[in-house]
Amino acid sequence: MTYWTAVATSESELPSVVRIREVGPRDGFQNEPEIIPTELKIELIGALARTGVQRLEVTSFVRADVIPQLADAGEVLEGIDVPDGVSVGVLVPNERGLDAALEHRSKIDEINVFMSASETHNRKNVNRSIEESLAGLEVVLGRAREAGLRCEAVISTSFGCPYEGNVPPDRVLAVAARLRDAGAQEVGFGDTTGMANPIQVRRFFADAIASLGDGVELTAHFHNTRGQGLANVVAALEAGVDSFESSFGELGGCPVPPGATGNIASEDLVSMLHEMGIETGIDLPALLACARRVQEILGRPLGSHTLVAGPVEWGA
Ligand code: ZN
Repeated sequence: MTYWTAVATSESELPSVVRIREVGPRDGFQNEPEIIPTELKIELIGALARTGVQRLEVTSFVRADVIPQLADAGEVLEGIDVPDGVSVGVLVPNERGLDAALEHRSKIDEINVFMSASETHNRKNVNRSIEESLAGLEVVLGRAREAGLRCEAVISTSFGCPYEGNVPPDRVLAVAARLRDAGAQEVGFGDTTGMANPIQVRRFFADAIASLGDGVELTAHFHNTRGQGLANVVAALEAGVDSFESSFGELGGCPVPPGATGNIASEDLVSMLHEMGIETGIDLPALLACARRVQEILGRPLGSHTLVAGPVEWGA
């Protein structure tokens, strides 16, 4: 038990266990300019799958000319060795991506689809209107469910858009409801360019839980662009969220502007949660070993704080 227990006022209301999806091999790698050799991706995914993490997003079936880094999606899926009980997910942008993913059906447990809640961001990102994206994803989700895959839909710019500014929560939740009705068992809300603040996050998820109901898992995907990623996690926990996405080594995650950091680091998230008495099932030293290994492979210091400082040592 740590010293703060006596002064915390709301910990009894926080979830005691949270689920974490490690998205580094997709969200992180896709932002790396140098191609990472397929065998090293396979090695890192195998190591991550043995940290106790229950969900791994391993690659994406996008056009190779758009994201050359993930052109080896099929080879990665066929090469990885993942223990039973670890759910393997891939990102698919459209039906063509789903078709490519289904060629490796036996290796996949879930798919993730994505769109933006901001009309301008969606057009710039996938060259479609929100309505066109919804219509397309409804088909993808329906077909994926028929194939027996679990489905997550991630809504980017859920907390603000660099082009449009404020994104009304009602609009985000209306998109979420459409995706839920189309078959998404989980909806992730992404703070794509790190614009969310903790007060906004707590209000947003309180509304989301009230309006979307128990039938869908709600997941928070925060970026640390302005250093508020973990503060936003605590705010989401206070609203009742118990599912998060993060990236080992603090890799990737749409760094806008260039040079900015993206996803929150998995090891920082796990360290904070464990110190708060919240279980993740993840072995922090094993996760740190993965982050050290990817740092060595990429040959540059990564942004993760716990990677630099090490785990908290009480009494040291
Ligand atoms: Zn991200």
